[in-house]
Amino acid sequence: MGEILEIKKYAKENHVPIMQDAGIDFLCDYIEKHGVKRILEIGTAIGYSAIRFALISHEIKVVTIEREEELYQKAKMNIQKMQLEDQIEVILGDALTVEVEGEYDLIFIDAAKSQYQKFFLKYCSALAKEGVIVTDNLSFHGMVENPELTHNRNTRQLIHKIQAYIEFLKNLEDYETTFYSIGDGVSVTKKKEGRG
Ligand code: SAH
Ligand code: MG
Repeated sequence: MGEILEIKKYAKENHVPIMQDAGIDFLCDYIEKHGVKRILEIGTAIGYSAIRFALISHEIKVVTIEREEELYQKAKMNIQKMQLEDQIEVILGDALTVEVEGEYDLIFIDAAKSQYQKFFLKYCSALAKEGVIVTDNLSFHGMVENPELTHNRNTRQLIHKIQAYIEFLKNLEDYETTFYSIGDGVSVTKKKEGRG
């Protein structure tokens, strides 16, 4: 596990916003318990969460998308070091424009917060029947619940976007969402029974 600690250390030193411990532990538990095998991740960063997922079982395959070339290269390196190239495919590109094949048991949205709804709408058709869409950072350091914590205009706008996404999830006819105040706020959305 030395490599994992090193990746975490690198993330901390370089301000790469990898998943918080409680959030990643929750998600890994979920993956294990529900026998999730095919994962699509939006937002690779340096590959930390993708690597954590792949380490749960040899049967797990992860496709993950990253738009920043430098992060993509770093992720590829980390995955190679862990010898997980057979399990993790990293795509360099904007998740809103790349085309991804296949069907997934779990779609993990962990990229630009202002675009969560667009990611959801683009990728929900790739969700397997019993699959789930998991979204990270719905609490945004507690600011979604307490917007007065910031006076920064851009941050406020982002908070509004997240609030709108939460409303969007709650109002979806064909899906049911559970919100967890774990890590930085995680939601799990699944299709209602008998739908699609
Ligand atoms: N899932 C990672 C952390 C991802 S951080 C982990 O927990 O280890 C969010 C990443 O999403 C950043 O690296 C950012 O460059 C990327 N990103 C943001 N918008 C994106 C988009 N539209 N398409 C692809 N990647 C995006
Ligand atoms: Mg995140």
